[in-house]
Amino acid sequence: MVLVLGLCAVLWGVGSLMGAPRSARLTMIGLLYISVLALHVALPNGHPLRMATGESPALWLIIGGFVVLIVIYRSGLAKLRTRADASETRIRASEKQPLFNDTELNRYARHMVLRELGGPGQKKLKEARVLVIGAGGLGAPVLQYLAAAGVGTIGVIDDDTVENANLQRQVIHRDKSIGMPKVFSAQAEMVAQNPYVVVRPYHRRLTEDIAAELFADYDLVLDGTDNFETRYLVNAAAVTAGIPLISGALSQWEGQLSVFDPAAGAPCYRCVFDSPPAPELAPSCAEAGVVGPLPGVIGAMMAVEAIKLLSDAGTPLRGQMVIYDALYGESRTIAVTRRADCPTCGSIEAKAS
Ligand SMILES: [Zn+2]
Repeated sequence: MVLVLGLCAVLWGVGSLMGAPRSARLTMIGLLYISVLALHVALPNGHPLRMATGESPALWLIIGGFVVLIVIYRSGLAKLRTRADASETRIRASEKQPLFNDTELNRYARHMVLRELGGPGQKKLKEARVLVIGAGGLGAPVLQYLAAAGVGTIGVIDDDTVENANLQRQVIHRDKSIGMPKVFSAQAEMVAQNPYVVVRPYHRRLTEDIAAELFADYDLVLDGTDNFETRYLVNAAAVTAGIPLISGALSQWEGQLSVFDPAAGAPCYRCVFDSPPAPELAPSCAEAGVVGPLPGVIGAMMAVEAIKLLSDAGTPLRGQMVIYDALYGESRTIAVTRRADCPTCGSIEAKAS
């Protein structure tokens, strides 16, 4: 027994000194094992060689069995490890794919240095999908600033074409775009300004039959339309989809905006404006007029609210309405509250946040 183990040790030691590979040394020891077993089978009981190598073959068979078990166990472990390494490599490969290239990192540098936004906030903007209803007065600055700020996917729905009389305030469109669908004119300007965002134009009117499916694709919706029918439709679809709605409105020299978000405990649009006003009390921009930069003021504030909501920065205007009177240079913020009997959001449970 001791003799054989000694021989094993000598084989291993000499092999390693001579630089023989592990497999060759293991083969030598395997051959030794087989010859010892053969000796036990071939030689009669009591033969001195048998006595010197452990007397009975049973012990050697047990040792052999153990070795086989250890080899099977180790190869199983090695296979598991290879599989784990492969999936880890895949994960690392996907992590290595940078979200921003060098141009984008440089472009968004003024965001990245903001404590409330930083790299994580910019990442959230890039991963966000935002739907903008209307590419008119409010839609123009909203779309321009969302694209410039690096909001990754921006949908815009509008069935209008660019008209000469729009250009006094709808600064996303150009003289040469007159007659062109607004969504395509807007898309061209946005992508020209920031090629690192995706713009999805929908040249059609928002109707009830497409609203649910369309809204389900987005994290946030901004409404800058000027008719109450669409406003109520947008509000209902946003409540159903459970996404916040940033809504702005304009009249002559005055504008207002708020974040409607019943899922977060804030009112919805209908909580505040239960029924549309009589048409003579709410004339359109075409009838009443609107000062050119006013949509820029309110639309830019809507874009700010969007960035805050998407990146969890600051306190969005939930349950608050900002009213800006351009003629007197005054602004004020009023509280707006949820109505338990609201026909649109009355049944929505606010999420604890
Ligand atoms: Zn409501």
